[in-house]
Amino acid sequence: MQAAILEERKEQIHRIGDAPCEIACDKDSLAGAVSQRACVFCGSRVVLYPIADALHLVHGPIGCAVYTWDIRGALSFGPELHRLSFSTDLQVRDIIFGGEKKLRGALIELIARHSPKAAFVYSTCIVGIIGDDLEAVCREVEAETGIPVIPVQSEGFKGNKRAGYQAACKAMFRLVGTGDTGTISPHSINILGDFNLAGEIWLVRDYFRRMGIEVVANITGDGRVDDIRRCHGAALNVVQCSGSTMDLARMMEEKYGIPSVRVSYFGIEDMADSLYRVADHFRDPLIMARTRELVRSEIEAVMPELTRYREALAGRKAAVYVGGAFKAFSLVKAFRLLGMQVAMVGSQTGTREDYQELAGICDPGTIIVDDANPLELTSFLEEKSVDIFVGGVKERPIAYKLGVGFCDHNHERKIAMAGFAGMLNFAREVHSSVLSPVWRFVPRRHAPAQQGEVRS
Ligand code: SF4
Repeated sequence: MQAAILEERKEQIHRIGDAPCEIACDKDSLAGAVSQRACVFCGSRVVLYPIADALHLVHGPIGCAVYTWDIRGALSFGPELHRLSFSTDLQVRDIIFGGEKKLRGALIELIARHSPKAAFVYSTCIVGIIGDDLEAVCREVEAETGIPVIPVQSEGFKGNKRAGYQAACKAMFRLVGTGDTGTISPHSINILGDFNLAGEIWLVRDYFRRMGIEVVANITGDGRVDDIRRCHGAALNVVQCSGSTMDLARMMEEKYGIPSVRVSYFGIEDMADSLYRVADHFRDPLIMARTRELVRSEIEAVMPELTRYREALAGRKAAVYVGGAFKAFSLVKAFRLLGMQVAMVGSQTGTREDYQELAGICDPGTIIVDDANPLELTSFLEEKSVDIFVGGVKERPIAYKLGVGFCDHNHERKIAMAGFAGMLNFAREVHSSVLSPVWRFVPRRHAPAQQGEVRS
C-alpha cells in the first residue's frame, strides 16, 4: 500500500532510485499536516536545559513549561537544578498589563532561593506578542544579583525547531569567553551536541580521557556554567548532531578561531571514526596509538555478542525517524551491522546535504522523509512492513498501534546507546523487541519467521 500524501508535502519525500535526491527541507511545517516537530521554544529548551547548575525560567503560560526533566532525562553528576521546572505562569492580567514585573520578581526570588551560576529566561509565544522586554529585565536582574541572566529569544511562532537551536546557541555564546583559560591543555576539546541521556557523555568523556585528551566543557549534557565560560580555551570543538549546536561551533570558530569536527557516537563504525578524527587533529603519535588500542579493545569486547544478534536479526527491516539527520546516518550503518535493512528514514530538521548523504548510503527503494506527520509515518511503516521503528516519544504509539516493535532513541531513553557499549545495548534492545514472543499475541502483519534467541 502506498501512502496518501498531501500535495504540498510531496516534495519533502523521496524514494531512492526514482531520481537524484532533491528533497525540499528546512522549511516551516505545513499547516494541517500535524508535524512531529516541537516549537522554537522547545528546540531551545532541549539544548540549554541540561546545564545543571543554571536556573531555567520559562516566561509564559504554565503549559509551555511541560518539557521538563521528567521526559528529557539529561543526567548530572553533581548539581540538579535543571530538574526543577520554573515558569512565570502568565495569566490574563499579565497579558493585558505586561509580564515584566512578574518576571523580575520570579527571577529575584528564584536566584535568592537556589543560588544558580547563571539564569536562562525563555521567551514563549505570548511574550513575543505582548512585547515584554526580556533583555532589559535580564540586564537589570544581572546587575542586582551578580550572575549572568540571559534571555533566550525563543518565541514558539518564529520559525521551526531549528530556530530554537539557534536561539539557544546565541544565548550560550554570551557566556563563552568570560572565564579563565590559563590551565587548559593544548590537547583539549569541548563536547558539543551530546545531552548525557542515560549517562552517555560520561562514557564518551572516558574514551577521550583514555586517549590523553582534556575535555574542557560538556555542551550541554551534564553541563556547568563555569566550564562554558572558559570553553573558548579548548583546541577543538567536537560536534555531534547536525542541528543543535553547530551554530555555536560556527560562532566560536569566527570569534576565537576554534576549528570543529562533526562526529557521531552511535554505532561501532561512527564511534571509532569519531575518535580517530579527533586523534588525527592533534597529530600526536601517542594519542593515535592510545586511540587505536582503545578502539581495538572496545570492539573486541562487544563483537562476539553482536555477531550472535546479527545471526538472529539478518534480513529484518527497520524504519527510523529522529530529530537530526546526523543520527540517522549512524543508525542506518548500525542496522547494517546487524544484518538489517532500513526501509524508511527521516528527520525533523535535516538539511538538503544531510538527505543527499542519506540517499547515498541507503538501499534502493528506501523512503526518505523530511518533517513527517503521524499519518505519513503510519502508511510508510505499513507499506514497508518493518519489524521495528526507531524514534522518540511521539513515534512510539504509532509503532505500537501497528503491532510493530519500537526502540526509543530520543531524549527519553533510559539506556545508553552511544559508544561501543551503547551499540551492544542497542542491538540487545532491537533483538528483544523484534523477536519478542509478544508478537504472537497482538495483531502484527508479519509474524517473525523464526524466534532466534540469543543469550548474553
Ligand atoms: S508554540 Fe508557543 S505557546 Fe505553544 S509551547 Fe511553544 S512557546 Fe508555548
